[in-house]
Amino acid sequence: MKLTDIRKTYHNRNNDVQALKGITLDLSSNGITVILGPSGCGKTTLMNIIAGRSDYEGTIENVPEFDYLTQEFNLFEDMTVLDNLLLVSDDRDDIDHYLNEFSLEEQKNRKVKKLSNGQKKRVQFIRALLHQPGLLLCDEPTAALDHDNTELLMEELKKLSDHIQIILVTHDILLSKQYADRIITMEQGIVVKDEIINEKPKSHAGNRMEKRSLKDTFMLAIKHMTSRIPHTCGQILLSAVCIFSLFSFCNLYGNVSKQSDYSETFANGENMIVSVPQQTTGAAGETLSGYRVKYNGMTTEDLFACDDIIQAVNDNPDIIAVEMFNSSQYVSDTDAYMDLEYQRMKQFDAKAYGPVSDEIPFADHPMDSPVLIPSDSLSVTDAGERTYLYTELAKTSRIQVFDLTNGYRDLPLICGSIPEDDSVIIDQNTANLYMKNEGYDSYEQLIGKTMVLGTRYYRNQYDTSAQQVYEPIKVKIAAVAGIHNDIIHMVFFNHGVGENPLFDAVVQDQHEVRLDYVRFIVKPGSDYSAIAQSLDAFFHKPNVDITVYQGKGLGQEHAFYQSPSGLMIYGVIVIVIITCMYVISELFYRKRMVKEKNILHVYGYSPLLETILRTCMITILSCILASVIAGPAGNLINTFASQHYYQAFMTFSFPLLLIVSFCTGVFMIVLERIIAGR
Ligand code: ADP
Ligand code: MG
Repeated sequence: MKLTDIRKTYHNRNNDVQALKGITLDLSSNGITVILGPSGCGKTTLMNIIAGRSDYEGTIENVPEFDYLTQEFNLFEDMTVLDNLLLVSDDRDDIDHYLNEFSLEEQKNRKVKKLSNGQKKRVQFIRALLHQPGLLLCDEPTAALDHDNTELLMEELKKLSDHIQIILVTHDILLSKQYADRIITMEQGIVVKDEIINEKPKSHAGNRMEKRSLKDTFMLAIKHMTSRIPHTCGQILLSAVCIFSLFSFCNLYGNVSKQSDYSETFANGENMIVSVPQQTTGAAGETLSGYRVKYNGMTTEDLFACDDIIQAVNDNPDIIAVEMFNSSQYVSDTDAYMDLEYQRMKQFDAKAYGPVSDEIPFADHPMDSPVLIPSDSLSVTDAGERTYLYTELAKTSRIQVFDLTNGYRDLPLICGSIPEDDSVIIDQNTANLYMKNEGYDSYEQLIGKTMVLGTRYYRNQYDTSAQQVYEPIKVKIAAVAGIHNDIIHMVFFNHGVGENPLFDAVVQDQHEVRLDYVRFIVKPGSDYSAIAQSLDAFFHKPNVDITVYQGKGLGQEHAFYQSPSGLMIYGVIVIVIITCMYVISELFYRKRMVKEKNILHVYGYSPLLETILRTCMITILSCILASVIAGPAGNLINTFASQHYYQAFMTFSFPLLLIVSFCTGVFMIVLERIIAGR
């Protein structure tokens, strides 16, 4: 080995220290070469440079295979003596032989960190002997040893130096006099003296450590983990928390966005398909909610047969609800709707402008949309008062009653559950109204309560006030759904089409029912206009279009399901905090990590492969732990969610957990490599 003009300057914060100022040496004979010099003259620096652990200026050529007994102990402190030695050699006899020779056989199964400094030094030395390198670098090898052990070690070195080159750093002049074959004296970064005492044969390249197999590395990784259970458990716990945080964040973000989109869809009526009289037949500017326009130009042809609606619903799996109790239905005897349109026009004109005509004999039981009645108004019996009440309530609390169809069970519920009986699911608007009427202050309180829907219909004749029938129908609230519409109150019966009790109250024969107006609610996210087109083609009404209700731009504030961007910030904060915790905890072990990486490198292991294997195992265990945590923690989060009127934040998804675990594992590997690699 040849060193030429080796220079090294440490750049400190306040000053630069020139540790080596041009060292040129030819070190290529066996025997013990002592580098002697006072503390701080640069001996350790030189050894580190030879060992490739420090950068420098100058050149070094032909470095043989070497082992380095550093000043500090370069051992896996948490592993036993035996495991440390097995790292280098599989020959147990050899190991036992050396342990015996250095009186360490009793310490064989003790952890290195429990040994005295002298014992550690000896373990390190045995490891070097097992390695059989061409060059042995020893930095103050006897510093921690007592007299006997010093002698033992030096004798061993002496014996060894017949076959290999030993470079020994010391400040002990006596020791060097006694054992050295060559003494190089250093002072303040330069060689001041170089004397050869015994001429020795040329050194050789030494025993190159073989590359370790995957299996060896795997076994080492396991030993590594099991040698420090508390730390490993800490790592598993921390990465499980990392995995869970990331998992829950992805979950939260996805679900809140989904719920927010879902809610938006309902609020805008984007997913509502309605029948609209063709505008050409109505006065300009009038909208579909105006009665006048609705009836303009419509004929009996334009009424919807109940059976047709049932057919359309059954044919279209995207329809989740249909309105069957509507603002005006007609149940007719035989073929009595002929001319109905004309008669009704007269009727409405009469209602608006003059005395009621009594020429309308055919319509039987036309109904209006029900209104939500405060339970205390049930006691009103006076007909006039009831009319007034109904008219007033109809301005603010008109209810649209839908029948859930196609076994639809995906309404996001804030509380309660999908009913099996005649109970209803109400939307948030209805729930808010009911709470205001009845003095409740949480959605949970509504579950199981009886709500009164006031219905009005006309018996036998049309719109003769005396024959208006007001019938309160009591329904039980089974659930509050996390949806609302900006213009209507929605009440859902969990029944087949037209089989809700309101319908039953007035209709004798469903097949005879004709509706003048229909509303379908389809699954959020489906192709609304395509469905509308197909329904339009199916019903094929001359004066009525079936189209998507474009209720956009209603511009109302949504009280719940706000944008998930706030959550994003929350998630980022959580992830940053946990990442910092992880980095800090790893930085805490940085020194050890660097040391261990160096050991592995010297003895033929790939530190990267070892990290990967170890991280994989930790990740798998963390993943298992995280999935255990996810159950109860997810429930907790969902309870919290429901208190804030979200349906659920967390759903357990194993694929997502796997992806997140994989990312965490990669992150851990990168992190550890960055920390150890510096
Ligand atoms: P020796 O081993 O002979 O006692 P070193 O090689 O450890 O001496 O140090 C030589 C000089 O370099 C000393 O002045 C020491 O303070 C300085 N030195 C050593 N290591 C560093 C370092 N990492 N950063 C800054 N200065 C250092
Ligand atoms: Mg030193």
